[in-house]
Amino acid sequence: MERRIVCVGGGPAGLYTAITARLAGARDEIVVVERNPPGVTHGWGVVFWDDLLDTMHRNDPVSARALSAAAEVWDGQLLQVGRRAPVFLGGSGYAVGRQELLGLLTARARELDVDVRFGTSDPGPDLLAGADVVVAADGVNSARRAAHEAALGARATLSWHPYIWLGTARRFPTFTFGFVDTGAGWMWCHAYAFRADRSTFIVECPEPTWRALGLDRMPVEACLRALEELFAHLLDGESLLVAEAQRPAPDRPAPWTRFQRVELGRWHVGNLVLVGDAAHTTHFTIGSGTSLALGDARALGARLADEGPLAEAFAGYEAERRAVLAPLQDEADRSTAWFADLVRPSAAPTSSARPGDAVDDLHLAWSLWRRRGDAPTWRWHLLRATQQPALRRLRRGASSVRRGLRARRREHDASRRDAVG
Ligand SMILES: Cc1cc2nc3c(=O)[nH]c(=O)nc-3n(C[C@H](O)[C@H](O)[C@H](O)COP(=O)(O)OP(=O)(O)OC[C@H]3O[C@@H](n4cnc5c(N)ncnc54)[C@H](O)[C@@H]3O)c2cc1C
Repeated sequence: MERRIVCVGGGPAGLYTAITARLAGARDEIVVVERNPPGVTHGWGVVFWDDLLDTMHRNDPVSARALSAAAEVWDGQLLQVGRRAPVFLGGSGYAVGRQELLGLLTARARELDVDVRFGTSDPGPDLLAGADVVVAADGVNSARRAAHEAALGARATLSWHPYIWLGTARRFPTFTFGFVDTGAGWMWCHAYAFRADRSTFIVECPEPTWRALGLDRMPVEACLRALEELFAHLLDGESLLVAEAQRPAPDRPAPWTRFQRVELGRWHVGNLVLVGDAAHTTHFTIGSGTSLALGDARALGARLADEGPLAEAFAGYEAERRAVLAPLQDEADRSTAWFADLVRPSAAPTSSARPGDAVDDLHLAWSLWRRRGDAPTWRWHLLRATQQPALRRLRRGASSVRRGLRARRREHDASRRDAVG
């Protein structure tokens, strides 16, 4: 039986659903429609970890290798309050530009005979009416979700903090959390390199600070210059950049937005099934939305190749992915609350240190490390010890060896699977 599968949205979720369905043996016609032209997307780089590469490698070594090749490693994290001495935290991972990720997924989808159509904002009644399966992969503001809001039991809540997703040519090889006192309240950035010549630079602050600084009304270029001034000590003279897809007219305010927490009572209705941000969101302070979107796509794509009833395939997909999502959503909620409590002027202190307390940035860093959940005491001792540059180098060396071994194991497992298959 040959079906027509239409994925609305050519982000990671839509493209990888199509790739996985094809690899799982689907002979169907598979169309991905993306409203943007090729090479255009919102935002900059996203982080991920080895677990994503492991899963992708098992599913499709070709796109997994392309992702490894396109990614930058970030090693360690750093907290800097104002111009005070930075505190170094551990941890390491990867980052990739959204554009690079979408480019490699599009190339792979086309190689597998998926019909990817750019510049198609609305798939139109013909394409949708003729579809056996419609995959809503149209992101956080999903129009497909909105059209079935009641049936899906959709709920969305907006975060307290406005944020803006910028880029910069300043290279941040260490994941950097920078807090600055603006005089009207705290503002902070999350910055990390995702290419040799580009880093992500996300700025967030409480709403009263944002309004008091006039950022809600300030035209885009003036806003960028104001942020460059506030974060001058981190930017080393480099500018802040807005993604072309999000650049407003020069007299319009910069593209600030608020995180939208999306939850659904169910992830499918009739022949419509939702994946990625269209189905659920996790706050970007835990850097998991893309990995979750790719995970959804892998689970759904594999089930679409089954020729059994769609309702069963969709229900199986939803159950599998809800189990993965739940703990991450809890961590994301805790992380969001950590940032909110830390800088809320009237709140009772919930952590042992705040950015305004000049006392102890080490304790603030420890609190930041534990924002997603508790950590064993030995981690605190490690944090203290690795403020010494020599021990920090040793730790980085160890994590680089671990990454290398894991990459070798992935290749080894892939060649064993090839030999068996
Ligand atoms: C500031 C910020 C930082 C982030 N950092 C990270 C990170 O470090 N790590 C991480 O894992 N995740 C991160 N995320 C989350 C991540 O970006 C998303 O979770 C991920 O992109 C979801 O993939 P998706 O395919 O579901 O949606 P999207 O990537 O949003 O893709 C949806 C696509 O659908 C298209 N579309 C929408 N409507 C239509 C329509 N009507 N017709 C055709 N096409 C349409 C859009 O143009 C878009 O290309 C971050 C998010 C933000 C906001």
